[in-house]
Amino acid sequence: MTDLQLPDNPYLLLTPGPLSTTKRVKAAMLKDWCTWDKEYNQLVQGIRAKLTKLASTEPGRYTAVLMQGSGTFSVESVIGSVVPDGGRLLVLVNGAYGKRVAQIAEVLRIDTTVLDLGETGYAEPAEVEAALAADPAITHVAFVHGETTTGMLNPLSELAQAVKRSGRILIVDAMSSFGGVEIDMAELDIDFLISSSNKCIQGVPGFGFIVANRERLERCKGVARSLSLDLFDQWDTMERQDGKWRFTSPTHVVRAFDEALRELEEEGGIAARQRRYTRNHQTLVEGMERLGFRTLLPKAMQSPIITSFYYPESEKFSFEAFYQLMKQEGFVLYPGKITAASTFRIGHIGDVRPEDMERLLEAVERNRFWL
Ligand SMILES: *Cc1c(COP(=O)(O)O)cnc(C)c1O
Repeated sequence: MTDLQLPDNPYLLLTPGPLSTTKRVKAAMLKDWCTWDKEYNQLVQGIRAKLTKLASTEPGRYTAVLMQGSGTFSVESVIGSVVPDGGRLLVLVNGAYGKRVAQIAEVLRIDTTVLDLGETGYAEPAEVEAALAADPAITHVAFVHGETTTGMLNPLSELAQAVKRSGRILIVDAMSSFGGVEIDMAELDIDFLISSSNKCIQGVPGFGFIVANRERLERCKGVARSLSLDLFDQWDTMERQDGKWRFTSPTHVVRAFDEALRELEEEGGIAARQRRYTRNHQTLVEGMERLGFRTLLPKAMQSPIITSFYYPESEKFSFEAFYQLMKQEGFVLYPGKITAASTFRIGHIGDVRPEDMERLLEAVERNRFWL
């Protein structure tokens, strides 16, 4: 596999997905596969089984569904297929992705309460517990684990406990954390967990996936507000027809994802990947601080996924100029997405190592035009 004549990447993507993938993952896409062939369906079944094992220590209680589209399609599929008419959804918002969950619910005309924590506000479990105690009509709670907007890692375990103590159904957008941060759905009693092909599993974009508590999902028949995003129907078909998708599936992307799962295994699983991402993050932050940058969030809130930095305090700084220089150096950075402060982001997930962070830091040092 090493002597494949695949072109080199023009730059390293330091973005939170799509991200830099290996040649091996990309090479898996060089063949055309039939979508209804048995061999392909078996591959899909293998992926589904692996996902339940990665997500939980009790895989038998969980089941996985693959859904065409970007990650948002899977979020919309869950929200629209799980909260029944007459249900009420509580959404915690401390960034753009939490806001997107609330927006999906609004578009679908689902009765929704938003707990707005502010752009960099920390989700306090006590606050969530109080909101749930105050409104018995709330049936479901949704929040984002790694809020990619800022790089904040919300306290999954404490929040899950707060939700489960009050017996609500729990939906977690773990899009940018699953595969890069250890999560045990069984221990935390998470009902629905959502992620996608192009984040920490290190595949390419094209589908999302949902790992669900099997019993919970079985009760979702007929709830969906959409045909193509009907989570139950998608699952029921995959389950009963042994890995068949209802509609055209992204065959090449699924192949690449299968290869990416093998690579994850070879790396040593999620724990090993989390260690690599954490080293990336630490190398980056230490180096950037040495070069005069400051992080947006305190260390305790930061994820090993992506880090937000304030612009340097200099009138000569322009992100656009910095971005172009870094791109010429072979690194694609990510603009900030919050309104309260001028920030940019550097992702450290994907086929990226601490050595790459060192190279990036040298490139930043060479290009400090704002000094
Ligand atoms: C990437 C991401 C999504 C989905 O974004 P898409 O562009 O639809 O793939 C959702 N939530 C979080 C936290 C994400 O990081």
